[in-house]
Amino acid sequence: MDDHFDILFEPVQIGPVVAPNRFYQVPHCNGLGYRMPQALAAMRGIKAEGGWGVVCTEEVEIHHTSDLSPYVEGRLWDDADIPAMQLLTAAIHEHGALAGIELVHNGLEAANFYSRIPPLGPRSMSVILGYEPGQSRRIDKEDIRNVRRWHRDAAIRAKRAGFDIVYCYAGHDLTLAMQFMQRRYNDRTDEYGGSLENRVRLFRELIEETKEAIGDTCAVAVRFAVEELMGDAGITSQEEGHDIVAMLAELPDLWDVNVSNWSNDSATSRFEKEGFQESHIAFVKSLTSKPVVGVGRYTSPQSMVSAVQRGIVDLIGAARPSIADPFLPNKIKERRFEDIRECIGCNICVTGDMGVFPIRCTQNPTMGEEWRRDWHPERIAPRKSEQGILVVGGGPAGLECARALGQRGYTVTLVEARRDLGGRVELEARLPGLIEWRRVIEWRLGQINKMPNVSIYPESEMTAESVLEAGFEHVIVATGATWRGDGLGRGQWFPISGHEAPHVLTPDDIFAGKRPSGRVVVYDNDHFYLGGVLAEKLVRDGSQVLLVTPAPLVSTWTENTLEQEKIQRRLMNLGVQLVTQQMLEAIQSAKVTLAHAVSGELSEQACDGVVLVTDRLPNDQVYQDLKPHLESGALKSLRVIGDADAPNIIERAVFAGHLAAREFEETAVAGTPFRVERISW
Ligand code: SF4
Repeated sequence: MDDHFDILFEPVQIGPVVAPNRFYQVPHCNGLGYRMPQALAAMRGIKAEGGWGVVCTEEVEIHHTSDLSPYVEGRLWDDADIPAMQLLTAAIHEHGALAGIELVHNGLEAANFYSRIPPLGPRSMSVILGYEPGQSRRIDKEDIRNVRRWHRDAAIRAKRAGFDIVYCYAGHDLTLAMQFMQRRYNDRTDEYGGSLENRVRLFRELIEETKEAIGDTCAVAVRFAVEELMGDAGITSQEEGHDIVAMLAELPDLWDVNVSNWSNDSATSRFEKEGFQESHIAFVKSLTSKPVVGVGRYTSPQSMVSAVQRGIVDLIGAARPSIADPFLPNKIKERRFEDIRECIGCNICVTGDMGVFPIRCTQNPTMGEEWRRDWHPERIAPRKSEQGILVVGGGPAGLECARALGQRGYTVTLVEARRDLGGRVELEARLPGLIEWRRVIEWRLGQINKMPNVSIYPESEMTAESVLEAGFEHVIVATGATWRGDGLGRGQWFPISGHEAPHVLTPDDIFAGKRPSGRVVVYDNDHFYLGGVLAEKLVRDGSQVLLVTPAPLVSTWTENTLEQEKIQRRLMNLGVQLVTQQMLEAIQSAKVTLAHAVSGELSEQACDGVVLVTDRLPNDQVYQDLKPHLESGALKSLRVIGDADAPNIIERAVFAGHLAAREFEETAVAGTPFRVERISW
């Protein structure tokens, strides 16, 4: 076996504890938090089982004055929170990994909706959580002493809960310790303000007191954003970020370093590629002898080895790669590189935290389902019979369904009308910046190609008649959806006048190679990425583009994937004209009529072409035509999945395919088909 990768499996001393290898799941949010402790423990435990040497929590509130409601993070407000944390540490320790906890006082970020206590900050200013009304209280010396005591007490509780690594957190623009260090928030004239040494004082005290409290048996880590990517207004790796690391160099047992804010740290693949943080964090190891962990959406074993050998990091930090493939370390250990389910950098996992619902992942349909559906990312129930199954449609739903059925041992025939498999993913991955989305296809095809029991037939469009003629008795239909050409969509209940004109196109027309000429209106009533990325493509291809949307922001839902500002900035830089809060009322030969989304006031824009990104129509004809044959008994089972059932995002299509495979020939559960964590009293 090639020993080139053995370096990744060397143990690393972190203060008084030893990480069994260099795979380090850094803290990440998940929408489960204190509200779903069993689901959370199972999810983290699976990662430990998959070989991550260190598995950390999300940010964990130390006190009720750091109440991040409505977001569901970890809580360790008092002793009553310890048992839930013990569930977590037990699940992680069961597989030999170290358990880390990221203690936090969120200061200006915590609006304290639940506790109703004034937020705490270095000065009195608007809370920095969205556009919430209200300001923080400028904390005094007694408050600071209290914060230090709360942090120390939480560290002691963390130790009692079984954690091996305890964090002092100053990253992501999210924590009081960081806010004291940031000049834009700290205007104090006491010993906690002014000079850098003074602004670092609180962070230093938190680290020192945490070490004193639990450092005999627990490692004390810091998470610190060395660069905020906002120039002089923020911390930069050239100046204060560098100097803060130098000042505290040997104090913590581990440096977990990154860029801030969260949207920069968890940048999507549309904007940043693997290893994108290296240039910002590379200096840290030159200033400290303590182990350094850094992230960069590493999924390539070679890149990981390189990052260690070049002295960038000692431990490979990962949040998203560990979500997409909890077994990534074990696959590298076993040199099964082709089995690694690489993160595509889409940030659908982030939407759980943003939307306050359980984490989900485009690549890994079992993420968040470990406890409630008892799903394992690597194991699946074996087949119940020798039945063969036809899957019609090789998009994300059909591919995942065929793969998972094949994994169960069934004989599967997958047919696809187009020459290329992957459906919408294959088409959309051709758009600017989305090439990594092809991993959805490539991983599944790679797995299927190893299965003699799964056959793929591209360029095989099927009708209900041909399905029946072929003699299949079990059919799963995954034939996708088609973008509407009439403009119907959210708040647009009737066809848009003029939509039949030849200069009006849909995304499917663009994918088929048609191009609007001259000045183009892209009408985005979908609000996720597609309208924005089509506008980007068209302007790069030479069109003059207006992006019109009824929403107040372009690609507004991408706020949930941390991309909205980046998308808007890119479109502005490319010269796309952004027209918000406007409904498309009518299309004429050389202009469109718009109606203001609130006032209804009409206006006109000259244009030569229009692209409608609105609702989609399920392609369910084959399913509808087959339904009577299920009732007649010619078919034993029939199911429609993915966009052909109800158009949605790619993650939902993959999930639907996986669910159909898991449920095939299994007895349906009466009532809610998954476990629910309920409050008991
Ligand atoms: Fe990666 Fe997307 Fe999965 Fe998040 S949802 S882990 S970004 S593939």
